[in-house]
Amino acid sequence: NLPQVIIIGRPNVGKSTLFNRLVGKKLALVDDQPGVTRDRRFGDASLLGLDFTIVDTAGWEDLDPDTLPGRMRQQTEASLIGADVALFVIDARAGVTPLDEEIARYLRQSRVPIVLMANKAEGRQGDPGIYDAFALGFGEPVAFSAEHGQGLADLFEALRPHI
Ligand code: GDP
Ligand code: MG
Repeated sequence: NLPQVIIIGRPNVGKSTLFNRLVGKKLALVDDQPGVTRDRRFGDASLLGLDFTIVDTAGWEDLDPDTLPGRMRQQTEASLIGADVALFVIDARAGVTPLDEEIARYLRQSRVPIVLMANKAEGRQGDPGIYDAFALGFGEPVAFSAEHGQGLADLFEALRPHI
């Protein structure tokens, strides 16, 4: 069994783009179990020779913003079961939002190792968000661009101790 790496984060930070980047051209399996797990997508990922199962968490995009924090907590808790490490993704251009802080609170209580990723960090527009992200308490964020494929080597270094 391959190690399982879960992608966690609020809507629109680039989770699915990251998933697709790590799965590459390989076919992503769609999980069709009912309930919260229906919102998870599994794929075979390979990162500079590191092989793992990557899990995209989705399905929050269409929810009522007022119920989103609770639903995200449920989904996050469910996702962490069986995970070897979680990639907590924020949008470096948007900076740290209240929903990011809420997710961070749950993740801090988890026994699953967390790798913080500041996505959309290509160019310089993400710099303030990268510095803000330190305050979340997960150490140095991996500055990343899922869209442009930047930061793969740093992600490799951050993931390797955990899988
Ligand atoms: P999700 O809701 O977290 O799964 O986010 P998506 O992967 O659907 O991406 C949300 C939006 O962010 C899309 O318009 C993506 O094209 C964009 N996006 C994702 N990664 C990057 C990135 O590295 N840089 C920039 N500038 N945009 C990105
Ligand atoms: Mg998505």
